[in-house]
Amino acid sequence: MLAPIAEAAAEHPWLAALVATLAVTQMVHRVRTAVLGWRPRDPRRLFVGADRAALLARAGHRCEQHSWLSGRCPVTDRLQADHVHPHSRGGATTVANGQVLCGRHNARKANRIPWAWELRTLAARRQAYAPPGVPTAVVRHL
Ligand SMILES: [Zn+2]
Repeated sequence: MLAPIAEAAAEHPWLAALVATLAVTQMVHRVRTAVLGWRPRDPRRLFVGADRAALLARAGHRCEQHSWLSGRCPVTDRLQADHVHPHSRGGATTVANGQVLCGRHNARKANRIPWAWELRTLAARRQAYAPPGVPTAVVRHL
């Protein structure tokens, strides 16, 4: 059963490296989900009312997704209030764990648990556009 796989790996070392990288990535994802996503779900699922308004005001009514090449996403309509640390993985429905994304970036993010450096980067970027005095730090859980 494994012989054809071993032969293929010997013949195509890049394929073996790709498969090993994917396996390690999957393992890291499962460990992070177990460690960071074990909490019970916040009974509040959606950002509504004042919380949603606070998220939009902090983001300047613009998608908060950044990319290395094109900078901050320019979309300003049909914005969605999103959990930075996913609700399905124990993220709190609080302004401190919220962000504003366009539909495309929210769908792309899905329920991936962000790395700590991503939270720090988002908080640092927010300082450029958040109103003065508004906290920019991301807090995953209550
Ligand atoms: Zn966007």
